[in-house]
Amino acid sequence: MTCDLARPFLEAYIDRELDAPDSLHIEEHLKACNSCSGLQERIEALGSAIRAGAPRYRAPDALRKRIQSDLRSPMHAATLGRKHLFDWRWAAIAASVLVSAIAVWQMPLRPHREQESLIAREIVSSHVRSLMTNHLVDQPSSDQHAVKPWFSGKLDFSPTVKNLDTEGFTLAGGRLDYLDNRPVGAVIYRRRKHILNLFVWPSSQSSDESRHSSTTKGFNTVAWRTDGMQFWAISDLNEHELDLFSRLISQTDKE
Ligand SMILES: [Zn+2]
Repeated sequence: MTCDLARPFLEAYIDRELDAPDSLHIEEHLKACNSCSGLQERIEALGSAIRAGAPRYRAPDALRKRIQSDLRSPMHAATLGRKHLFDWRWAAIAASVLVSAIAVWQMPLRPHREQESLIAREIVSSHVRSLMTNHLVDQPSSDQHAVKPWFSGKLDFSPTVKNLDTEGFTLAGGRLDYLDNRPVGAVIYRRRKHILNLFVWPSSQSSDESRHSSTTKGFNTVAWRTDGMQFWAISDLNEHELDLFSRLISQTDKE
């Protein structure tokens, strides 16, 4: 059985609406296919989330009757093309949860992007906080040999600290911060009147990820992952100069 064949029956399978042979086919496919079994987990998680959290409203009797009679009509069954899998109870449940489902659906389908935009928002808050509260640096210094040792003993990893003065990015110091549920190193640079925060922490993922830029709440960010470390640079500096900065950091880091 292929994924294309299995997918349309997945929900019916989860709701135990298939007959035994069909059910067995799907089950065998799920054992062999990570993609479909992943989808199965997400559908089940969605179901539990909705059962646990969504408000329930009883449909007005007139609406219930209309849906039921529509679904029983031969024309509707023909359009569905899988009437043996279909009964009105499923349709009524599906209709009642559709609105909540659309909202919840986004999360399990795109866990990585969700997680990343969550971090992006944390990065922005951290950056803004550092600008507003007079708490830009814990260890003010333009000397990388003063900033780097300052981190050791405070963090269980060693953040990249580079002197990029000749390239026009002046090291301003280091700061401890808290992001993605863990303490992280923040290395601060200045370029003209702009402040750059470079956040560094050990990633939970080992694979490298090339630099990618985005804009969140008016700030430019560049994120990348290299040698098991996660990097986020953020500033109100224009994206080209921030990109240059991230290149310099990731290049020099590999030397
Ligand atoms: Zn599959």
